Amino acid sequence: MNPARAWSVALIGLAGAMVEVEVHIGCGLPKTTLVGLPDTALSESKERCKAAMAAAKLGWPSDPVTINLSPATLPKAGSHYDLSIVAAMGAAKELCPNEALAERVILGELSLDGRVRPVRGLLPALLGAQQHGFTNVVVPAAQMREAALVEGLAITGVSNLPELFDVLRGGAGSCPPSPDEVAPTPDAKIDMADVAGQVEAKWAVEVAAAGRHHLYLHGPPGVGKTLLAERLPGILPDLTPSEALAVSAIHSLAGRQIAALIHRPPYANPHHNATVPALVGGGSRIASPGAVSLAHRGVLFLDEAPEFTPKAMEALRVPLESGQVVIARAAATAVYPASFQLVMAANPCPCGMSATPGANCQCPPRVIRRYAERVSGPILDRVDIHQHMRPLRASFLRAALRATERSAAVAERVLAARQRQAVRLREYGLLTNAEVPGVVLRRSLSLPAGIERVEDAVNRGQLSARGVDKVLRLAWTVADLAQADRPTAEHLHTALAMRRGEEL
Ligand SMILES: [Zn+2]
Repeated sequence: MNPARAWSVALIGLAGAMVEVEVHIGCGLPKTTLVGLPDTALSESKERCKAAMAAAKLGWPSDPVTINLSPATLPKAGSHYDLSIVAAMGAAKELCPNEALAERVILGELSLDGRVRPVRGLLPALLGAQQHGFTNVVVPAAQMREAALVEGLAITGVSNLPELFDVLRGGAGSCPPSPDEVAPTPDAKIDMADVAGQVEAKWAVEVAAAGRHHLYLHGPPGVGKTLLAERLPGILPDLTPSEALAVSAIHSLAGRQIAALIHRPPYANPHHNATVPALVGGGSRIASPGAVSLAHRGVLFLDEAPEFTPKAMEALRVPLESGQVVIARAAATAVYPASFQLVMAANPCPCGMSATPGANCQCPPRVIRRYAERVSGPILDRVDIHQHMRPLRASFLRAALRATERSAAVAERVLAARQRQAVRLREYGLLTNAEVPGVVLRRSLSLPAGIERVEDAVNRGQLSARGVDKVLRLAWTVADLAQADRPTAEHLHTALAMRRGEEL
């Protein structure tokens, strides 16, 4: 008997490759074999499929069954193959016509009682299927909204095994879940107005947002470093449609249910104990995305940055430079986008209190110095803005609580500044000041007025050549926020102070 075939998708990073699922029923002793480089979750698939078929009273052959996933060289992971395996089995047992499987991609996990469960990475899998010319897809009913984010697909949702075979015999399948059944993403009401005082630090966050500069916040515990970092995504512009699709695909792969495109910049804040794989992605055979990818087109916040291991910091270098993570394994190489805005925060010493007047810090000066140096040079080299924060005095606090500006107002200025940059940098194929190469800054764009001041700082050894580029980038962002056509001497002065972490 010819084997029955169904189609599924293997994900390598975010890239989808078509997988042909063959089921062959032989004769002899009952034994089910699954071949074609499966991982553990997939190896257990045959047990789920058997149990689900039995629960649906569809049975499993008492003859030997071979399930072959090809191409055999491609590593395969996850539980989403279940549905294509039972579909091929159904065709082999003549529960549905072979033709019903020919041009369909069937994705879904089975529970032991025959229900169809949501799967990780549905969105990138369907994007992959579409790229390979498949437009007809069967997905878990609970994920029909996620599937609908891929334009131009004919989507059928199924919620259990009998429904799958009904669809394969020409039935209509499930209705999409009503909007209120889909868990809403928690719309955290966090606003810049919640942060009392810290006018300078808020300004630094605004400049960071406007030019997409990396930011380092220094200060004792409790001054609001985390509060400010959390509020940075809220003042960034919406993602473009293609960014939104990429961000949604990454978060789908990480196991989040996507009911609507993620159109706001994401935020990731890995703990300093996070392993390197948790930070940049990894895993034994097929890698999964790390925090740097979950922060793609958004903000990666490293609180207590000096507490991260040197290994973890080192792992951030490549994504900071290239905007992506490449994870090579014997079986396959996965690529994950990881273009994020870095925000780091640090206490002034291990106990956090050395900069606080009257506090009892016992850290020796040598420890304090070493603490600051724990963040490696190559990472610091990428940071344009250093901002020191200190505690508010009570009287200031009361005044500060009254005078607050909402995130929406800041976001408007950020967006206007971004638009100016996009127009100016279009001819270089760039979008934001932070990405402008030094040579363009120094030769193609006009130099700010008062540049002698920067040259002075270089001559006196206070600023490196790389530092000059950072100051120029920042000066442009400050000018863009001020709606100026070119940075003035004052903008340059502000930029120089921000770069050095001085008070304005
Ligand atoms: Zn201390």
